[in-house]
Amino acid sequence: MYKHHSALGVALSLKPAAPVTLIRPQAAARAARYFSQKFPGRSLYAVKANPSPELLKTLWSAGITHYDVASIVEVRLVARTLPRAKLCFMHPVKAEEAIAEAYFTHGVRTFSLDTMEELEKIVRATKGAEDLELCVRLRVSSEHSKLSLAAKFGVELIEAKELLQATRQVADALGICFHVGSQAMTPQAYTQAIERVRAAIVDASVTVDIVDVGGGFPSTYPGMEPPPLEAYFHAIHRAFESLPISYSAELWCEPGRALSAEYSSLVVRVERRRGNELYINDGAYGALFDAAHLGWRFPVQLLRPEANDEQGLEAFSFYGPTCDDMDHMAGPFLLPSGVKVGDYIEIGMLGAYGSAMRTEFNGFGAERVCEVADEPMASLYRDEAPLPQKSNVIQLSRR
Ligand SMILES: *Cc1c(COP(=O)(O)O)cnc(C)c1O
Repeated sequence: MYKHHSALGVALSLKPAAPVTLIRPQAAARAARYFSQKFPGRSLYAVKANPSPELLKTLWSAGITHYDVASIVEVRLVARTLPRAKLCFMHPVKAEEAIAEAYFTHGVRTFSLDTMEELEKIVRATKGAEDLELCVRLRVSSEHSKLSLAAKFGVELIEAKELLQATRQVADALGICFHVGSQAMTPQAYTQAIERVRAAIVDASVTVDIVDVGGGFPSTYPGMEPPPLEAYFHAIHRAFESLPISYSAELWCEPGRALSAEYSSLVVRVERRRGNELYINDGAYGALFDAAHLGWRFPVQLLRPEANDEQGLEAFSFYGPTCDDMDHMAGPFLLPSGVKVGDYIEIGMLGAYGSAMRTEFNGFGAERVCEVADEPMASLYRDEAPLPQKSNVIQLSRR
């Protein structure tokens, strides 16, 4: 893959007619090093956020050895891509065949569950294995997160006692896990959830070997700038240390978004302008699902060689390329007022749940991938502090 200098360089030299995915392995590696060095426990990468094999290899090289997988296809993918990785099958509702293949073919020993039925399924599928690490998923609040994961999974606290005790009987190691929801905007999300873990442990009087605080670690987007990740790590560490567990108990987390968001972005072209609506060549069925369906505001910048600060920024909305009215992204996306047909725009921070959600509906979407060496449009890791939102205008010096 040819390595370009910058997003602007890609737009100028390729003049691409179809959207181009830009990848920044150095940004993902920096995020991975940050988690492996600073999180006060083990960091598992949640593969569903972005299952690209290149990203998996980048994270592995930067110190991520454990992977949270949710399906047998993800198990096979990571086993094939990173043969020495440790896989943790953390979807609480699995097919029995998937559990058996994961255990017997791929060496998976760690599974999550939130019902007695799933526990029985795991025991049956592994033929009563005695080397299982079983994590009981506890239901916690999603109130501090932008995307709830509270409705679907997790045992209620009042039902946790029986399940924890039964799991303890068959598990070599017993864990408790939870997920506070994606893009958790305050460390309190985790400390409140850990309080619930405490209540569950006290109530069940079981020895717990693993506390897994799940994903939900934020990235930074316009209008959603979270506190520094270190504040999350400190709060989690303090709460974990105060739990009634043995000193050898392990603390785990499962970041998806925080490890992958800065990895990729997209270069799109404006094909039509109607007032402040721009018709661009990727959208809801491409890498912009969250922009369309969740109203997520991603950072944008106009990719033009000349500095054009003299133009004020205005709010734009986007239409994607398909013939579907739902292929609409309300934004607002701030761009120079003079943006016109033929202009290229970089849409940033699409590494998490962007390329992973793409379809080929209507025959549109990015095919080409280019590696670039410039900084992502925003970062939680540069100088280890959140960056102010960068100007939407490219300066000459960045070429
Ligand atoms: C989706 C998911 C994650 C990753 O969540 P992020 O918000 O992307 O960090 C981690 N663990 C489980 C069980 C998940 O379902």
